[in-house]
Amino acid sequence: MASTFEFQQTVGKTASLSGTSLHTGEKVSLKLHPAPVDHGIKFKRKDLQDEPTIDARIDNLKTVERATTIGEAPTRVHTVEHVLAALSAMGVDNAIVEMDANEPPIGDGSAQPYVDLIKRAEMTVQEEPRRFFDVREPMYVESKTGALLVLLPDEKFRISCTQAGPNNRFTQYLSMEVTAAAFEREIAPARTFVFYEDVQPLMEKNLIKGGSLENAIVVRGEAVLSKEPLRFPDEFVRHKILDIIGDLALVGRRIRGHVVAAKPGHAANADLARAIAREQTQRSAMRAPRAIPIGDSGLDTREVMKILPHRYPFLMVDRVIGFEGENKITAVKSITINEPFFQGHFPGHPVMPGVMQVEAMAQVASILLFKLTKTSSRVGYFMSADQVKFRKPVFPGDTIFIHAELTRARGNRMAKTKCYCVVNDAVVSEGELMFTFLDK
Ligand SMILES: [Zn+2]
Repeated sequence: MASTFEFQQTVGKTASLSGTSLHTGEKVSLKLHPAPVDHGIKFKRKDLQDEPTIDARIDNLKTVERATTIGEAPTRVHTVEHVLAALSAMGVDNAIVEMDANEPPIGDGSAQPYVDLIKRAEMTVQEEPRRFFDVREPMYVESKTGALLVLLPDEKFRISCTQAGPNNRFTQYLSMEVTAAAFEREIAPARTFVFYEDVQPLMEKNLIKGGSLENAIVVRGEAVLSKEPLRFPDEFVRHKILDIIGDLALVGRRIRGHVVAAKPGHAANADLARAIAREQTQRSAMRAPRAIPIGDSGLDTREVMKILPHRYPFLMVDRVIGFEGENKITAVKSITINEPFFQGHFPGHPVMPGVMQVEAMAQVASILLFKLTKTSSRVGYFMSADQVKFRKPVFPGDTIFIHAELTRARGNRMAKTKCYCVVNDAVVSEGELMFTFLDK
């Protein structure tokens, strides 16, 4: 739903990790650096002249044989899926992944080393909202090898996966909501696994020099060979989910949808990422208005006017589009050229006055507080506005999404709210508003 509002995140400081790369067997060190808003994830080849960077985006996908390789011009980075899965699932939107080789360290074949790395680098919240891809209607991709991925609308990011080996050996199923906590606990420790018959030719060609029982589980017949015992009875399907998260991170937006996968692999995962990116490009090109629901979850204009005493030209809320729990609200106000303030602010150059945005925030916050106190015998008075910032101008034709969150409340007497006005996914203004309640 358009009502969920989250900020982008990066890491607070640089953290590093070293190890061996899987395909070449060489030593590699990896550094995770902070990056600014809207930067996304970029890989940097420190070992090459001019230190080229590669955007972790689906347009840069080169090959999906056994692992996911991205590249720009002649530069490549291989096996990016585990580090991308960890960054995406742990909530890092912007970062530079600097390496002195063409592949990250393989570690134990899981995403655990990267989760530890991200925690050492400490996540920090940035000032722009996250970009989402909301699945509006089902999409699917199918491969010749029997992989099938279906993407269904959902308010959360979920993955339901069925994994089956050759002759359907080790068939496993798992369904989960992908959150940072669930990823760290259930998915990150799951290691890479291979079926002996698949890797034998590669071993003969010496193509996986860094491969060993320390960084992969090898399945030979019914036997499971690995340095340490299985970490989960269904470790294989968990690793498949890890790879899906990593490959879909190439979309560059957080997905709100349910991935239902059968026998997934990097090729099918990449096809789905490509389909999502295509759909996103189409949507942006059409500039379709955002769906603003009406119904049980929100309040229409009539209901808003039952709560707020404000009337034209001072009612700054068209509709409440949703509440999240008790403490959060999102409302919309469409700004048209007919707003009375544009006549004088300014003639020939209509810009919405910042104070009117603060007024809009205050009105939306009052609706939240009214819901909270559940009484109409007390009325909230706007006491103070702190940390008010105006970041971008608002023009006629803009739709403002007004978000308010209750941050502090003292009984029925005082409440503090953090509010944001957002236009086209960018914060245009924000402030901390305080209210006190008095009997009418
Ligand atoms: Zn993998």
